[in-house]
Amino acid sequence: MKELVIISGKGGTGKTSIAASFAVLAGNAVTADCDVDAADLHLVLAPQVQQRGGFRSGHEARIRTEDCGGCGVCARLCRFGAVGQQQGPDGAVTYAIDPLACEGCGLCARYCPQQAIDLKERDCGEWFVSETRCGPLVHASLDAAAENSGKLVSLVRDKARTVAKEGGRELIIVDGAPGIGCPVIASLTGATAVLIVTEPTVSGAHDLERVAAVARHFAVPAWVCVNKWDLNPGMTEQIEATVRRQGMQVAGRVRYDRDVTAAQVAARTIVEFTVNGAGGDVRALWLEMGRCLTV
Ligand code: SF4
Ligand code: SF4
Repeated sequence: MKELVIISGKGGTGKTSIAASFAVLAGNAVTADCDVDAADLHLVLAPQVQQRGGFRSGHEARIRTEDCGGCGVCARLCRFGAVGQQQGPDGAVTYAIDPLACEGCGLCARYCPQQAIDLKERDCGEWFVSETRCGPLVHASLDAAAENSGKLVSLVRDKARTVAKEGGRELIIVDGAPGIGCPVIASLTGATAVLIVTEPTVSGAHDLERVAAVARHFAVPAWVCVNKWDLNPGMTEQIEATVRRQGMQVAGRVRYDRDVTAAQVAARTIVEFTVNGAGGDVRALWLEMGRCLTV
């Protein structure tokens, strides 16, 4: 089983459009949306959910108001300012914890003299296994302000591997997270190859170098594609020269094409929308990546 991960040094480079196109062109792959902080593959692939489950990570504290003696120890101990005072209908002072501010450290629960604080696992979101017009999609939804998205990425990748194994599918296409943080590391460790999508701008070049260093650190062979390359051909050439100098491969270029937006509006991928322009470029990119995966 092979895993092709598509990532970018920053958001908005066109990574997801390319990942969705690859899913369509592959036809028989499992696709995993590991950009869990801003999941959007489902907008184009129109999944029908077949399985779903909860994702829990970390802890949150809750005060049982009926058992609280109002001593205020928890509010004094909490370094995160998560405990607030409140007054009950009878005028008695009690305390409550703001779940968004609570870091789940457990200190208040440990020192509450009334043992009135429960420390529970935090519900952070959901995962889904869905059917789409181009095979199974494993995706997730992270609750607002929920953390540990790297752990959810690992869960999505594990599920994708299970789905691939059960269905006898040889390829997993992963839409990875942008940037260089924990979700990206969770997206690409152990992958067969990574395609880094960048754009011909100064920030694109800078962010590419940072994410390429992450791929190098984890010894994942990296290919690079410059999206909207014709907006700045000089910068595209500079980026490609850097890519070669750093021992990575240039996978191809995708031109700027208004049809990409038109395809998104129609909830289609660019390769379903047209065989010309950017649609043709992405097809060529897919053929190149297919060659890389068979080496
Ligand atoms: S430490 Fe316990 S008893 Fe004291 S205010 Fe907090 S929850 Fe209530
Ligand atoms: S668990 Fe930690 S962060 Fe949360 S309210 Fe208690 S002391 Fe504050």
